[in-house]
Amino acid sequence: MTYKVTLIPGDGTGPELVEATRRVIDATGVDIEWELMEAGSDVMDKYGTPLPEPVLESVRRNRIALKGPITTPIGTGFRSVNVALRHSLELYACLRPCKSYPGVRSRYSDIDLVLIRENSEDLYAGVEFDLGSPEAETIRSMSNGKIKNPSAISIKPISAEGSRKIIRFAFDYAVKNGRRKVTAVAKANIMKFTDGLFYRTAQEIAAEYPGIEYEEVLVDAMCMQLVQRPEAYDVIVTENLYGDILSDLCAGLVGGLGVAPGANLGYEAAVFEATHGSAPKYKGMNKVNPTAVLLSGKLMLEHMGELEAARRVEQAVAAVIAEGKYVTYDMKPDRNDPTAVGTSQMADAIIARL
Ligand code: NAD
Repeated sequence: MTYKVTLIPGDGTGPELVEATRRVIDATGVDIEWELMEAGSDVMDKYGTPLPEPVLESVRRNRIALKGPITTPIGTGFRSVNVALRHSLELYACLRPCKSYPGVRSRYSDIDLVLIRENSEDLYAGVEFDLGSPEAETIRSMSNGKIKNPSAISIKPISAEGSRKIIRFAFDYAVKNGRRKVTAVAKANIMKFTDGLFYRTAQEIAAEYPGIEYEEVLVDAMCMQLVQRPEAYDVIVTENLYGDILSDLCAGLVGGLGVAPGANLGYEAAVFEATHGSAPKYKGMNKVNPTAVLLSGKLMLEHMGELEAARRVEQAVAAVIAEGKYVTYDMKPDRNDPTAVGTSQMADAIIARL
């Protein structure tokens, strides 16, 4: 069977990381026809937008994409392409597995948890009113003096439907992947309506899954718990902003951004990408670690049902990391180690281990 997959190299170090991943996936023998699509700051001049419509059409058609990171320039007016892509394709769930691999330098070992982040609402919905705007003044005037004059205001919408979708996704993921526990994270003692709704919804859905243990932890306590005893957690489900922060924390537990994969999933499409950004200072230097994008490729193979190929990719990545020879600078005990290899050489070593 030939699969058609949209390939978005992105910008910064994205193209070299995506190329390394494409080569490894092709070497598994899974037959993929890649549809190359350009997006990001490098195509602004050519298309007048960093997210040309044909990119979205391609992902909608193929229903699956592998994506490199895309830079969000500060102060140029356009919204994050990454956020726009998730909104346009209704990719409501962000999946971020965090797993320890022997050989990765980290303060912890034996971590195997999965963070599931709601991807479309919360303070990321983009409902903001600037200082001095009539809308900000209207909202302020309704606040019984709780909002100072003048203020800029961001709104945090949490919908019943959005909460139901992400929480059900987390429980279904737990069942499908043999996980034992789901922990819902919010701050309902302070945000009684928004985060209260999130917890109430989670309690209702948890009752439908008696085989999965359910618990609630407040987000501040969760930060401390994850640092003190990360092994106590299994599947964590949370809102957009808490999820953004916790996923970087979890990446730190297992060795940093260079090894943290991710997926953005919806009913119509799935986009696989690393947690990290475009690391633009290393652009074109064949230097950065391909592991996070590669493991995102492994998630993509699992999503496609190519479980054996996914297992082979993970085992080859793990073997190369454990050996510690053909790895990028960030995986060496000394970051200036002259024996560190480049992005494409690490991919070559992984292909040799498949
Ligand atoms: P970043 O993740 O690009 O880089 C932070 C640091 O992490 C880098 O300087 C580097 O030391 C390290 N790092 C990141 N990836 C690495 C890798 N593969 N191997 C080794 N080291 C790695 O974060 P940033 O500098 O805050 O963001 C740069 C740009 O990327 C910004 O414009 C940001 O908006 C964007 N971004 C995009 C995405 C995405 O495309 N989904 C995600 C996050 C950030």
